[in-house]
Amino acid sequence: MYKDFQLHLQAELESIKEAGLYKNERVIVSPQSAEIELNTGQKVINFCANNYLGLSNSSELIRAAEESLHTHGYGMSSVRFICGTTDLHKELEKKIAHFFGMEDTILYAACFDANGGVFEPLLTSEDAIISDSLNHASIIDGVRLCKAKRYRYENADMEDLESQLQAAEEQRFRLIVTDGVFSMDGNVPPVDKILKLAEKYNAMVMIDECHSAGVVGATGRGVTELFNIKGAVELITGTLGKAFGGAIGGFTTGKKEIIELLRQRSRPYLFSNAIPPLVAAAGIRMFDMMSETNELQERLHDNTSYFMEKMTALGFDIKPTQSAICAVMLYDAKLSQEFAAKLLEEGIYVIGFYYPVVPKDQARIRVQLSAGHSREHLDKAIAAFEKIGRKLKVIS
Ligand SMILES: *Cc1c(COP(=O)(O)O)cnc(C)c1O
Repeated sequence: MYKDFQLHLQAELESIKEAGLYKNERVIVSPQSAEIELNTGQKVINFCANNYLGLSNSSELIRAAEESLHTHGYGMSSVRFICGTTDLHKELEKKIAHFFGMEDTILYAACFDANGGVFEPLLTSEDAIISDSLNHASIIDGVRLCKAKRYRYENADMEDLESQLQAAEEQRFRLIVTDGVFSMDGNVPPVDKILKLAEKYNAMVMIDECHSAGVVGATGRGVTELFNIKGAVELITGTLGKAFGGAIGGFTTGKKEIIELLRQRSRPYLFSNAIPPLVAAAGIRMFDMMSETNELQERLHDNTSYFMEKMTALGFDIKPTQSAICAVMLYDAKLSQEFAAKLLEEGIYVIGFYYPVVPKDQARIRVQLSAGHSREHLDKAIAAFEKIGRKLKVIS
């Protein structure tokens, strides 16, 4: 049997390669950081991690994790409801709820699981989910697992959202769901307007804050802080795997009855292991740091505006962003790959994206800024963009 299947897989893999969509993984032999070393020996400045606050290799978080290894051991060997809950898990859940101004929080192994397990327990075929067309894959999968009627609106398009809400008026409950920051453009949806429409059409709102938590808003509390509507949405999902230290772990935070029901019925919570205590301990330390100082968010915001200003002045076409994601538009797929490869030779690690990850003829290089970048890192990247940009005639 496997012989036939093997031939089938080999053909499938070949067609991925022919389409130019085969993903190769670079191997890092240093800690994740602004400067990393690859297994080729090359040292590069990293502009493609979700390490927005530069905490992936934070000595404070490492110390908190280390200490917990002595007090709480290594693994939990259990789901939460059997014997996988420690005081650290409970404390972290409280800190997350407090950070976002919500009532309660439930932890998952990843935000992929949080989104995968949030819809099905809450909504039935009588209800409606109205979802942004550019929402993350985990939201799309989560929605598929739920029997609620599905409506899709064009990215951040309020007119279309309103028509979809009208179409869903017959359903019992309506839930609007959107990413807080869309990862390819770095744009933020108009959450204030979404909330107004939600009121008008009697709908609830869920925001996935994976790319916005720690980043957006004056103190990094995400898009509900940016629009001054903290606590006004029913549900927020997020990850500990990006700005918040980057290890692993996801969460849903929101109204207390919603979280309570998820603890009873959410399948990725009931049937998957608890996060290790060391991740919870580092997470607790991280949220404490966030309440003590706003230094990292400020540095990230400074770095982002500095980079955007210099790149725009050089003549690059940059998508308007409200996050730490900066899309340098090149439009041509091949050019985006050549540009990224040449930047790597200059010691600047970025990724070029093209169709089908972004729309046709919208190829780009995505630069992700971090509080971990120094001015020198940014200047080196800007100089490399200028040099390669002139060579490839992207700027004059
Ligand atoms: C990264 C991301 C996820 C998945 O988070 P993990 O914790 O890595 O599983 C979900 N939603 C969005 C919008 C993301 O960017």
